[in-house]
Amino acid sequence: MKREEAVKALYELAKEIDFLENTIMTLSWDMRVNLPKQAGEYRGNTIGFLAGQVFERKTSPKLNEVLCVLEEEPAEDEVLAAMIRKFRREYKYLSEVPAELNAAYAAHNLKCEVVWQEARANNDYAMLMPWMEKEFDYLRQIAAAHGFADDVMTGLMQAGEPGLTRAKVDELFEELKTFELPFLEQLKSAPNKPYDKPYPGPFPAETQKAMIIEILTKIGYDFTRGRIDVSAHPYTTANDRNDIRFTTRYFEEDFTRALISSTHEGGHGLHAQNTSPKLRYTTLESMTYAALCESQSRYMENIIARSLPFWEFALPIVQKYFPQMKSLSPEQMYQSLNRLNFHASRLHADELTYNLHIIIRYELEKMLYDGDITFAELPHYWNEKYKEYLGITPKNDAEGLLQDMHWSSGYIGYFQSYVMGNFYDGHYYTAMKRDVPDFFDQVRRGEFSGVVGWLRDNIQQYGGMYTPAELMQKFGGGELTAKHYIDYIRDKYAQIYGV
Ligand SMILES: [Zn+2]
Repeated sequence: MKREEAVKALYELAKEIDFLENTIMTLSWDMRVNLPKQAGEYRGNTIGFLAGQVFERKTSPKLNEVLCVLEEEPAEDEVLAAMIRKFRREYKYLSEVPAELNAAYAAHNLKCEVVWQEARANNDYAMLMPWMEKEFDYLRQIAAAHGFADDVMTGLMQAGEPGLTRAKVDELFEELKTFELPFLEQLKSAPNKPYDKPYPGPFPAETQKAMIIEILTKIGYDFTRGRIDVSAHPYTTANDRNDIRFTTRYFEEDFTRALISSTHEGGHGLHAQNTSPKLRYTTLESMTYAALCESQSRYMENIIARSLPFWEFALPIVQKYFPQMKSLSPEQMYQSLNRLNFHASRLHADELTYNLHIIIRYELEKMLYDGDITFAELPHYWNEKYKEYLGITPKNDAEGLLQDMHWSSGYIGYFQSYVMGNFYDGHYYTAMKRDVPDFFDQVRRGEFSGVVGWLRDNIQQYGGMYTPAELMQKFGGGELTAKHYIDYIRDKYAQIYGV
């Protein structure tokens, strides 16, 4: 095969995979947003079939042949180079796992989620326990197939962030804990008590939706290339850059839940809408790296939408839709959205204690894989850690380790990505202050081109072309540390609590 032919073949194959993946994503979105109750099985089978088609293409001898030709010389341009790297990485990763193991795991995974739903509804961990143990065991075998029999956690991290290691995460998390645990003690006895009254509702869902669309449009989210819908768990599906959909859930007594979750999902959406048009049909529009994705959503949610300048901009809009909110000031909104909430559920956590929810999962995953604790002992150690780090004990397992389906649907060796996203945000924040010193003044005036422009130019335009570490080098962010994030979060909470 000539090089020219190989280039053409790779683009053709990429386009096919792109179409299939986008179809799967749209069907999955439809499943979460629109599906009739009894249509689940058929839809599951359809998606399973299409996923098999993607798998076949990504592991085909033809792809290997094309890549071998292309790898003989340096690529003609950066996009092609990134495609070659991505398809080679996926080819290797997917080929390493025996087909029978893959199939057995996929089948187990589907059932395990269903068992989790019932176990949670009945507060019955014993029912889920053998399933979850098996889930962890499958992932141990998969990590071993990738060559990580002795370091399962590092093996599992490779799916979301190639090159990341357990040792590196340990180091960063220790640094964060060493700062955060004593800092939280200090805040508990601080002189300032942030505003904590309930908002004067009710806030009808339809009005909330119109308000969110206005606010996100000002931020830069383009609703001619995206949608907002309702699903049980907010999420974003990034198909083509012109078809980005995210979901939310409305609570009539508290409009901030849908608004804040929409700034998070809208952050994912901006990431996808701002990818370079050059990446269409290449599969590089998909961001691939978990912590990189979360860094974009969390930047918009935490650093922007939980800031005082944001509320100086947003509150007048909120008051236009909900005149009863005229009794509140931006400062009160800012305090209210940043007050500490020592809660058993991660989804109710504030920006600071959220980190501890993640660290607890991560530490328990390591203890399970290292054999330090058994699955029967897990609820005990879960509660111990919540007591130690957050000073609370969940009412029961449904509120504790059954609170979300992540461990039952294969998100193991994954939780660290959320806090890793925060660490990356710390670096972006430092660099943004260097490059756009008045960005918060712009936000106060309702101008987001400084913030979103920086994210677009330095991160978002590249989609999944580069790893987070490579992007950091490009904008002069240096080596990943926890320091920038710790400086940011310490300043914020110290100011709010007056310590
Ligand atoms: Zn997210």
